[in-house]
Amino acid sequence: MRLVTLNCNECGAPIEIPHKVKFLTCAFCNAKLQVHHTETAVYSEVLERLEDKTEQIADELARLKVSTDVERLDSRWRDDRHRHMMRDKRGNYHVPSRPLAVVMTIVICGIALVMLFNAPGQMAMFGIVFVAIAIGNCIRVFLKAEDFDRAKRRYRRDRRSLIRKLREID
Ligand SMILES: [Zn+2]
Repeated sequence: MRLVTLNCNECGAPIEIPHKVKFLTCAFCNAKLQVHHTETAVYSEVLERLEDKTEQIADELARLKVSTDVERLDSRWRDDRHRHMMRDKRGNYHVPSRPLAVVMTIVICGIALVMLFNAPGQMAMFGIVFVAIAIGNCIRVFLKAEDFDRAKRRYRRDRRSLIRKLREID
């Protein structure tokens, strides 16, 4: 068996192979090589680096997985945010607003106060009930708003960390 000596075209390592071998993987750098024979020389040409290819596939898979995670997170938040929003009588959702709740409460308390002074007796009782309902509602909006903010912060934090992961892969 006739042996030929050539160098790896990728890393330059000396390689000794049987004359008939056309393809090989360099034992030093894992490059896939094709052996070319000319009248005067034998040399190798890099086809692809196995290592690179494997790494590429792993990267692609990792990227795909993180992208899917981002999509899933976004769609979960799209559903989830409705649970943390307020729904009005017409069925429209809106983000719970603390200022609006405060203004409403002040207005209702004002009206109740006027009732209390101008119409004592039974009407005053209505005023007190109004105030109680208004304050209860205000507290409810504040709790909802707190809940909404917390969920939003969590969503944003999770999304940021996924995007960071995605950048690290590239
Ligand atoms: Zn090599």
